[in-house]
Amino acid sequence: MRLKKLEREQVRMKYGGRCAYCGIELGSRWHADHLEPVTRELISKRNANGTWRLDSGKPLKPENDHIGNMMPACAPCNISKGGQSLEGWRTWIARHVNSLNLYQPTYRLAKAYGLIVETAVPVVFHFEKVQTSACGYTHGDWECREGGYLWYAGDGEGYDPSDCTHICPHCRTTDYLEAAKEEAEGCSSWSNNGTSGTGVDLWVLAERQALGANESAARAALAEIGPVHTLDGDDSPGGYSVVVCNSQRVKP
Ligand SMILES: [Zn+2]
Ligand SMILES: [Zn+2]
Repeated sequence: MRLKKLEREQVRMKYGGRCAYCGIELGSRWHADHLEPVTRELISKRNANGTWRLDSGKPLKPENDHIGNMMPACAPCNISKGGQSLEGWRTWIARHVNSLNLYQPTYRLAKAYGLIVETAVPVVFHFEKVQTSACGYTHGDWECREGGYLWYAGDGEGYDPSDCTHICPHCRTTDYLEAAKEEAEGCSSWSNNGTSGTGVDLWVLAERQALGANESAARAALAEIGPVHTLDGDDSPGGYSVVVCNSQRVKP
């Protein structure tokens, strides 16, 4: 499945721009990983020089190919996980120390000299540590749900667990503001259901909502985030101008 730009951005920000598995901050080269693998069929193809190679064919579990099953992953984690299930991969990682002891003399020597201490801690993935339960925050008909996302409770239809569009400003204030910064710095004008605005409006609204939802956390997050270079849309040939925002960092 090819993700649209906005969907890819949603996946990237699912855990505040970090790898869902090891928690490292994602650089520009990150992967959208299938949490439950789609397990592609292997087909042999003939190279131009007559040799054969294995290539991945169509997915055997296409039902796993949807955005709710996509996790942001750094390249090493994505490559290491490959087609394994989460539990299979967890066991495999846990055995790495065993493999090092068996096959790596340099590892054994370093351990003998006290340079390496084996802890035997269980393998816990980043997304498992940060998994939050609903914090009780509500805003109009919007409520926080498990995972720290807001969902619309007004229509009585429940929520889609795979919908990770709206980060809760109360329990995930920093993630919320970081996502708003990204959006405000990448969008000069927008319109939605009859309302419209610029990147500056996006930021100002988000900042106000964060301060209203959790003032102390928002002040701390804003101080850390620093200047936000929002885009202000207009009709000039340049299309937009940059306005430096963030009430906690920038003097008006
Ligand atoms: Zn990782
Ligand atoms: Zn919350």
